[in-house]
Amino acid sequence: MAKYTIALIEGDGVGPEISSACIGVLDALKTKFGVSFEIRDSPAGDRVKAEKGEALPESSVSTIKDSDACLKAPVGETAADVIVKLRQLLNLYANIRPSKTLPHVPSLKPEIDLVIVRENTEDLYKGMEFDFDGGIVALRTITTNASTRIANYGFDLAEQRRKNVVAVHKSNVLRKSDGLFARCCKDVSTRHPGVAFSEMLVDSAAMNLIRMPERFDVIVTTNMYGDILSDEASQLVGGLGVSPSANVGENFAIFEPVHGAAPDIAGKAKANPIAIILTSCMMLEWLYKTRKDDSCAQAAAAVRAAVNRSLEMGVKTPDLGGTATTAEVGTAIVKLVSA
Ligand code: ATP
Repeated sequence: MAKYTIALIEGDGVGPEISSACIGVLDALKTKFGVSFEIRDSPAGDRVKAEKGEALPESSVSTIKDSDACLKAPVGETAADVIVKLRQLLNLYANIRPSKTLPHVPSLKPEIDLVIVRENTEDLYKGMEFDFDGGIVALRTITTNASTRIANYGFDLAEQRRKNVVAVHKSNVLRKSDGLFARCCKDVSTRHPGVAFSEMLVDSAAMNLIRMPERFDVIVTTNMYGDILSDEASQLVGGLGVSPSANVGENFAIFEPVHGAAPDIAGKAKANPIAIILTSCMMLEWLYKTRKDDSCAQAAAAVRAAVNRSLEMGVKTPDLGGTATTAEVGTAIVKLVSA
């Protein structure tokens, strides 16, 4: 039986509630699919900072590094000290954020199926902000290496999908930085003649995501545009409660829902666990690819089917118009996976 070690960051706010529902689903995979997980607690976030003085203790970083993958629930105010730091520390250069219409969940158009591939290591998120002339200056870095690397990821992904890449930037204004990003995407496109390639300014992309979201397949973009556009894209298909993501590097990946700690609903059993459960499907699919383990692919497909079926059955949290609690949604999915 395949056994994987997973570092778990339970996080803050709704983090522990949704983590518990998700671990229940992962536990249910053992009997039927022969995939088991050793979950290693890796405390990080606001609560840990209050207790220990640092949001990401070295012991948690070691646990994460020693595991096969990391599953992370959202953290609160300390996000920059936790996930932004981990992305750079572990060189998790690609942030993958799919938005896909789910059955019985209101969607702007019936057949949305797009993936935002966001550069995850540079841009304004390097945190280089300085006092300057009575104000602040923030530095933005865009490099050939990082831009080419993310473009390669986007085109490889598109080869396995509908073979369409849109590079999103603002090169008409940010001529040097976004101009470089656009050139790198264009260069990579010449090595993928079977993939349709176009460019779109970020303001136009924000508009077209509402106007014709079904036309997008893979969007490749820089860090900040990707952050903003992916929250927008999540709203097209049911919102943050159903939106998963992955931070992927060469040999390691951290999987996390797109949403934040949602303090407004924390402790009220209202958080939708589907975002983190679909996130765990991305983790299973990554384990399938990197470990060549078919049972992980089968388990992921079964969990996705169980999520769809639970939605058809109307087991929904309040964000989707239902009355089910976080735990009830988790239990319904566990039962369907185990059936
Ligand atoms: P961050 O900046 O850390 O990403 P945010 O400010 O975007 O966070 P969130 O914490 O993601 O905010 O919450 C935004 C809104 O979405 C809130 O009203 C919250 O209740 C809702 N929300 C977020 N996650 C969920 C979830 N899993 N289930 C239901 N509602 C959610």
